[in-house]
Amino acid sequence: MRVKKIFTDSQNRKVMEINVLPTKYCTFGCVFCPIGQKGEKTDKAHHFDETEAFLSYLEREIEVEKPDVLFINSMGESFLNSRLEEIVFLAKDKNVKVSLYTNGYLLGYPQFAKVALFCDEISGEIKATTEEDFRKYQRPLEGYTLEEYWKNMIGFRERYKGEFVIYVTLIRGVNDNPDSIGRIKDVITKLDPSRIFVETFEDEKFCKAFGVSAQKLSECSKVILGN
Ligand code: SF4
Repeated sequence: MRVKKIFTDSQNRKVMEINVLPTKYCTFGCVFCPIGQKGEKTDKAHHFDETEAFLSYLEREIEVEKPDVLFINSMGESFLNSRLEEIVFLAKDKNVKVSLYTNGYLLGYPQFAKVALFCDEISGEIKATTEEDFRKYQRPLEGYTLEEYWKNMIGFRERYKGEFVIYVTLIRGVNDNPDSIGRIKDVITKLDPSRIFVETFEDEKFCKAFGVSAQKLSECSKVILGN
């Protein structure tokens, strides 16, 4: 748990990026996870003793750095820290906007959606576009389905008034075909995001195995973004 970095975003805002998990805790075990495969696959929020000290540290860091935005982007799924709501309110009480990065599955769970609704910006992700690929490449918890995943994000979006950002990751040989792009477009229409980012893998290891070419990325982006 720590401040990872401070940077200026494309809207010229000072952003403080933080991790609120001691090690990886996530609902998925994606084959291309940049954090690695070690960690706990769970959808239960955990109490971490170190959160107490982290809250005091974060308060001091916010007072010193005075960021415009607190970007919560953890080693996995930030909702799995049972004190996430306190972290969100620590920032909100200091007039700092809160942006929360999540894969989006838990937005369909009332206890987590309640915290997300307090945030100024929430992200969701689109990667696999078939149930088979979802199980094979994103390796979610037992019983999770792609249908439920998208339903969870769409249901949350219908209630959420803040900025909803969607990250689409193109995966070579998996979702870079016309059928998949069509499904991505359909779900994006339902999600009505404020902003969409279409990306592929950047780090060498995963880029080699799963990255699409710059030309493919550009072609698919045009279709997805409709420009
Ligand atoms: S959702 Fe993100 S953090 Fe979780 S396993 Fe997949 S890539 Fe890793």
